[in-house]
Amino acid sequence: MNTIDQCNFKDKKALVRVDFNVPLDKDYNITDDKRMRAALPTINKILNDGGSVVLMSHLGRPKGGPEEKYSLKHILGDLSRMLDQEVKFADDCIGADAENKANNLFPGEVLLLENLRFHPEEEKGDVAFAEKLSKLGNIYVNDAFGTAHRAHASTTIVAQFFPNAKYFGYLMAEELKNAEKVNHGATKPFTAIMGGAKVSDKILLIESLLDKVDNLIIGGGMAYTFAKAQGGEIGTSLLEEDRMALCLELLDKAKAKGVNLILPVDTVIADKFDNEASKDQVDTGKIPEDWMGLDIGSKTITLFNETIKNSKTLLWNGPMGVFEMANFEQGTKAVAEAVVEATKNGAFSLIGGGDSAAAIAKFGLEDEVSYVSTGGGALLEYMEGKELPGVKAIMS
Ligand code: AMP
Repeated sequence: MNTIDQCNFKDKKALVRVDFNVPLDKDYNITDDKRMRAALPTINKILNDGGSVVLMSHLGRPKGGPEEKYSLKHILGDLSRMLDQEVKFADDCIGADAENKANNLFPGEVLLLENLRFHPEEEKGDVAFAEKLSKLGNIYVNDAFGTAHRAHASTTIVAQFFPNAKYFGYLMAEELKNAEKVNHGATKPFTAIMGGAKVSDKILLIESLLDKVDNLIIGGGMAYTFAKAQGGEIGTSLLEEDRMALCLELLDKAKAKGVNLILPVDTVIADKFDNEASKDQVDTGKIPEDWMGLDIGSKTITLFNETIKNSKTLLWNGPMGVFEMANFEQGTKAVAEAVVEATKNGAFSLIGGGDSAAAIAKFGLEDEVSYVSTGGGALLEYMEGKELPGVKAIMS
């Protein structure tokens, strides 16, 4: 793999695509800086070699032009503190000012460019826009795993302007190594734990996992569509009616492939979608009218835990319930703790990005699993067997 370890950056200017798409509160304070911290080893390696760094990223989803709330200048102070130097800033990611500032960087200095998505050409993968970006460095580094599944100008297209000088950053290399370990090198028994709101978001992943796993645990909101498809009563729980037939198909496929597909046997129900709702626990498929399932029940926790603890490889994507509400976090927390215990006993555990990463962080267990991915969609697409354009662009 073409990583930055193969390059000495002395007197070079590296154009580095990072994923600084961090959450900000209403006063523009960063509420979780994990993605920024994850890029530091790459930036520091280039600086320590005696190179300079031009950082480019997106932030949020601007509607095609500059928007104050999505300006990367809000993160400049924190970045400067993290790198222990004053980071320079260009108000536009392309154009004369950005080129001047990039040209005048001394070895050891860092320039942050304004949000790439203030130009619609970024997401369109526009070649002319990518060429303008390419003028800002003489080596291209991609360390943005979170956007590696997008063929955007800065993640993919720009690489063609650096045919002999393009590398994966350390974060990207680490993400790919860990994803690969699960995707093709899993020690058995291999258990995937799927949760979250919708079956439709995870169908392709579930189908691809059926060829690889020994056990497939399904919890969270998506389990109620399975329960309904099997003839159960689910009250007002999440339901994707148009996916019921597919659920039955997946159950048949799992059987045919010898995969142990495990669904919840009981559920914690609430009379409204509210942390303060009245609560009860019933068996799967026996939810009264006007009640909704918001977490897995205690018998299910025991059932899931048994399988998790006996696994040697674990992939977890999606919470078991509405973990954001303290009264419905129990199932997700219990699964997180079982994954931690299995890891202590020698299992390799990969936590998918997005909500599973948020859940494991909420319970303070981030450091007790093997790896927490920074990429949600990118990791899912990789696991589905798709080629990530951002990865291909560096390889080719
Ligand atoms: P996803 O992005 O598909 O992984 O879904 C994550 C979201 O699913 C989280 O915000 C959870 O609160 C939500 N979720 C999980 N279980 C349920 C449930 N039983 N009912 C409603 N939402 C749920």
